[in-house]
Amino acid sequence: MTRDIREGTAKLGDLRFRILDTAGLETTAEPNSILSRTAGLTAAVFQKCHTVLFLVDARAGMQPLDADVGKWLRRYAKSLHTVLVLNKAEGIHSDPSGKLLAVMGEAHSLGFGEPVAVSAETGEGMTDLFDCLQRLLGKAEIHVTDQEAELQFQDADSESSVMDSMTIPLQLAIAGRPNVGKSTLLNALLREERVLTGPEPGLTRDAVRVGFDYKGKQVYLVDTAGWMQRSKVEGLVALGAMHARRNLMRAHIVALVLDAEEISKAKSSMRHSEAALARWVTQEGRGLVVVVNKMDLLSGKDSAAVREQVIRAVSEEIQKILPQVDGVPLVFVSALKGRGRSAIMNRVFESYEKWCTRLPTAQLNRWLAKVMSRRPSGVERGHGARIRYITQVKARPPTFVVFVTGSGRIDESELRFIASSLKEDFNLSGIPLRVLQRSSEDVR
Ligand code: GDP
Repeated sequence: MTRDIREGTAKLGDLRFRILDTAGLETTAEPNSILSRTAGLTAAVFQKCHTVLFLVDARAGMQPLDADVGKWLRRYAKSLHTVLVLNKAEGIHSDPSGKLLAVMGEAHSLGFGEPVAVSAETGEGMTDLFDCLQRLLGKAEIHVTDQEAELQFQDADSESSVMDSMTIPLQLAIAGRPNVGKSTLLNALLREERVLTGPEPGLTRDAVRVGFDYKGKQVYLVDTAGWMQRSKVEGLVALGAMHARRNLMRAHIVALVLDAEEISKAKSSMRHSEAALARWVTQEGRGLVVVVNKMDLLSGKDSAAVREQVIRAVSEEIQKILPQVDGVPLVFVSALKGRGRSAIMNRVFESYEKWCTRLPTAQLNRWLAKVMSRRPSGVERGHGARIRYITQVKARPPTFVVFVTGSGRIDESELRFIASSLKEDFNLSGIPLRVLQRSSEDVR
C-alpha cells in the first residue's frame, strides 16, 4: 500500500546497489485486475532500474494475481532482468511436509526461471539472492568511494552485464572462534603460495582482495572481519567470523577451524556457535570443510589415544549436527608447525569441484531408471504420483528437480532416497545438495 516511492542504498554481502520500492500494484474492483494508476507509477520506477525483484508469498502459495503481475512485468519490464523471489520461505530446505518446496515448483511455472527462496524476516536464503544479484548486477553495481558517501552508478551498458558465475574463482572463508588459530593458518597458507592482491578478476573493480595460487588454481580469501586493512601493519590478524555472517555470503567454501586441545578437554567437540555456523553454511548451500587445528598439542604419553578420541568426537558431532550432508570433510592439522596445508587445500578443492558439478539430463535419466529399480521397500511410493524425469536446474550447489505426473506428490522418503543415491553414484557427498519436486499440476 506504500504510495511514495522509497529509495535507498541496499547492502547485501558486499554488494551495494540502489533499491527502489515501487508504488505497489493495486487491483481494481474487478477481480485480479491491476489498477492502471499504480501500475503507471511502478512502470515509471522501472525506467530507472536494471533488475526487478518479483516477490511472491510462499506461505500463501501462488495466487491468480501473481500470474497477472507476471504478465504485467513481461509487458512493462521487458528490458529489465526479473528475479522471482519467494518470500516467507523460512525453513524451506528442512520442511518435512514439503509444502514450501511444492510452492517453489508452482512459482517456477510463472516463467521467470528458478525462484530464489528467502525469508526477509530471518535472513535465510539471502546467500542465494546474493549469488543471483552478483551475477546480474555485474557492472551496474554501485561504486562506493568514501564510506558510502558518494554513490554513483557505473556505466551499465558497456559490455554485457551478465556474468557467467563460473568465471568467479573459488572464494574461501576461514572462520572460527577467536584463538583457534585462523590467522596462523592463513599465514601458513599464504607463506607457501604466490600471493595475489589487487582487483579480483570479474568482480567489483575497486574491491581489493587477497588470494593465492594453489597448484595453478586461484583462491580468494573472504574477508570476514576486515583483517585485510589491518594486515598491512601487523600481519594478518584474527577473523571474528562469528559476527561476520554477511561477509560469509561471498564464500563458496567455509573452512571452520576448531581447537584440538579444547576438544580433548571438553565434553562436546563443538561449541554452540560453531555448530550454528556449520548449520548455517549448509543451509545456505555452501561447502563446509572442518579443520581441527593444534593437533601438535595432543602429545604426552596417551597422545595416540587422545588423538583417536578427538578424531572420533569431531566426526560423530558433525554427523549429528548435519546428518543430511553425509561425510563433511574433516582435516586434522597443526597450523603452527605448518602441517596439513595441502590436506586442507585438497579437501577445499574437492568440495568446490563437487559443488560446481553439472550432470547432463540424459545421463541423469539413464541413471534414474536404474536407481528406481533398486529402491528399497521402505521407500514409499508416491500417492498418486509417478516420477517422469529428473534434471539438474543449477550448480553451486547442485540442485535437481524431479518432475512427477499424476495428482499427488512423491513421498519425502523417495526424494531422500534420490538425494542419497545421487551422492553415492556421482561422488557428491560432503556438500549440500538439493532435490525438489515439481508436478505437472504446477504447470497448469
Ligand atoms: P585466531 O584468533 O583464530 O586468528 O588465532 P591465532 O592464529 O591468533 O592463534 C591463537 C594462538 O594459538 C596463537 O598463540 C598461536 O600461536 C596459537 N596457535 C595457532 N595454531 C596453532 C597450532 O597449530 N598449534 C599450536 N600449538 N598453537 C597454535
